Amino acid sequence: MEEKYIRAKAPCKYYGKCGGCQLQHLTNDSQNLYKQNYINRLMSGFGKVNDLIFMEEPYEYRNKMHISFGYGPKGKLIAGMYEINSHRIIDIDQCMIQDPIGYEIVKTIKQIMKKYKMEPYDEDTGQGFLRHVLIKSGYKTGEVMVVLVVSDRMFHGSNNFVKILRKKHPQIETVILNVNDKDTSMILGDYEKTIYGKGFIVDELCGINFRISAKSFYQVNPKQAEVLYEKALEMAEFKGDERIIDAYCGIGTITLAASKYVKEAIGVELNSDAVRDAIKNKKYNAIKNVEFINDDAGSFMEYMASKNEKFDAVIMDPPRSGSDEVFLSSLLRLEPEKIIYISCNPETQKRDLDFLTKQGYLVKKIQPVDMFPQTDHVECIALLQREIM
Ligand code: SAH
Repeated sequence: MEEKYIRAKAPCKYYGKCGGCQLQHLTNDSQNLYKQNYINRLMSGFGKVNDLIFMEEPYEYRNKMHISFGYGPKGKLIAGMYEINSHRIIDIDQCMIQDPIGYEIVKTIKQIMKKYKMEPYDEDTGQGFLRHVLIKSGYKTGEVMVVLVVSDRMFHGSNNFVKILRKKHPQIETVILNVNDKDTSMILGDYEKTIYGKGFIVDELCGINFRISAKSFYQVNPKQAEVLYEKALEMAEFKGDERIIDAYCGIGTITLAASKYVKEAIGVELNSDAVRDAIKNKKYNAIKNVEFINDDAGSFMEYMASKNEKFDAVIMDPPRSGSDEVFLSSLLRLEPEKIIYISCNPETQKRDLDFLTKQGYLVKKIQPVDMFPQTDHVECIALLQREIM
């Protein structure tokens, strides 16, 4: 029998309406127990599941915030997240899991919009200017990026807008204009222009500096990302002479963190903006034994296998949909001794582990890590070892 969960009063006034969090009605201990039970149920068929690594201070951890703008009842300017399963905006002035700088900046943007009569975009009519704001903040550096997603390239008064914004929030290092003039639920459009600063922010993770662009993936909970990466590298038990691949490498966070422990690492990533950041990050940190490739991870590994290249380990951290057949079959052809599979969706991870364990791999360790307190998401690391046939 599983232990009972203890209910709590959700601290956030928008809980239940906003879809961002799902577990605020449980105490933090019960949330941890819920996540542990979930991973145990899913993964115990592969062996013992380690205790969940939870977050001591499970609030204000998110470093990325998407806010939509519109009109509410009586023509009031509103800004916030969408209600669950809808495109109705909830007007928020606070978010418990977010770095507070995010909604402080949103408050200022609302004031500027009112003062200068800047219209929010209306999805139904296609009228108006400001659609969304994306705010990213560096956890260690405090640097902030503001991306204004607008419907038109012409932004009269942009200098003044930036000046007022920066006067109130000097942490803003860069402001980017992103144009999204399509009838779409995607947030960012293709066209991008830096209207203030260098076009990226820098943050530090595992002692390495990372540059982060508007469109490249960066872990939303950097404090726990350090814990996750260190745990994954500890589980890998590298000796220093290994040649490894870091598949789905994003801006190269894991690849560069792993470079200290191995002889050579290759990071592979599909998103070209992220790879550009990864290459800059390598240079910036003067790391020599790393290379980045802009390709589909599966195709690249197929190619490596066809060239008879050998790798001791593959680290993989795919998106929520998990891995695909091309990737998994290329993995089998490459035959690395170890696979370190990091996943933000344990359901697809289990599916992939089912496949790999039928094809000569054994799951040696399973480690859940909570990267997303208050939500029902949980990250999971699995270490696989190739069986000697
Ligand atoms: N390991 C990184 C990024 C993980 S997110 C980190 O911890 O920061 C998953 C990444 O996989 C994203 O950057 C996404 O762009 C990339 N991706 C998605 N499909 C891919 C594919 N088929 N091949 C290579 N990379 C892919």
